[in-house]
Amino acid sequence: MFELEEEKLLRKLTKIGPRLILIQLPEGLKKEGFTLAQLIEGRTNIDVAVSADPCYGGCDVAIDEALLLGAELVVHYGHTPFLSKTEIPVIYMRAKSRVNVAKIVRKSIPTLSPYNVIGLVATAQNASKLKEVKRILEDAGKIVRIGKKSGLAKMDGQILGCDYSTARSIVKSVDAFLFVGGGDFHPLGLAMRTRKKVVVADPYRNRIIDMESLARIALNQRWMAIEEARKAKRFGIIIALKLGQKKISDANKIREKLKRSGRNSVLLAAREVIPESLLNFQDIEAFVITACPRIAIDDSQRFLKPVLNQEEFSIMIGERPWEDYTEKW
Ligand code: SF4
Repeated sequence: MFELEEEKLLRKLTKIGPRLILIQLPEGLKKEGFTLAQLIEGRTNIDVAVSADPCYGGCDVAIDEALLLGAELVVHYGHTPFLSKTEIPVIYMRAKSRVNVAKIVRKSIPTLSPYNVIGLVATAQNASKLKEVKRILEDAGKIVRIGKKSGLAKMDGQILGCDYSTARSIVKSVDAFLFVGGGDFHPLGLAMRTRKKVVVADPYRNRIIDMESLARIALNQRWMAIEEARKAKRFGIIIALKLGQKKISDANKIREKLKRSGRNSVLLAAREVIPESLLNFQDIEAFVITACPRIAIDDSQRFLKPVLNQEEFSIMIGERPWEDYTEKW
């Protein structure tokens, strides 16, 4: 279903010539780990270790783990480059989807019928197919826009769960967005940020989804979490131990603001923010996560105490109004 581009990877590895490498694969691609390792070890003198840890984004490159292992290079599948500087080289392989999207895009046309101007977005797996999607929708009489790559996006129309810059660049000129790809994670964030109609054309499950009600539920949950956190006096501020998510100075600033508002806090450090682990901090009434901003949103049902991301914290503390949750695009 996804292109691993093995020959391209072998060429790059042979050129660099590391002795041991660590390969990271997102959950859906871990099943390819065995074959990939066998291929590399069979065709080169390179030893391979495949990371069995979860890997959620390009922010989550396992440099520390590779160094601990003695690996000289990390191969990171599923995401486009995120970190600008690393201690050892990283080869990013985006794992382009092989799935045909034409059929599902045609199926989305009736749902898009009330909207004339459509913005197209996708993750790294399908972003290169957006030109084909554009042609299909134009043939159906739509005006179609694809935002130029910007922010963390390396491809036109690409969105990340924490960076919607490409969508932001066209939001004022579109009536609705069409996300081409699987899962709710990326389109949910887009619908929450824009409050525009976001339609998902999912070629993997052959389904069309309107994100409106999910986004409304998620926004209500975020509002409630912010209001609950406002009542708390004792906070835990979570610092991520992942290279692309580590924001120690942000955590210290949050701590200072809490102090000024008469609240106490403690810094917590975690590689993974696991709801069950937070339960053990019984004295803490609310948490602020300086790591991936989506943890607070997407795991909200699993947290028994209010957990905010940085932006939500700034609303809670009164720096920004709730209306800012949907960015001023
Ligand atoms: S910070 Fe979160 S949303 Fe952004 S790339 Fe990392 S895992 Fe994805």
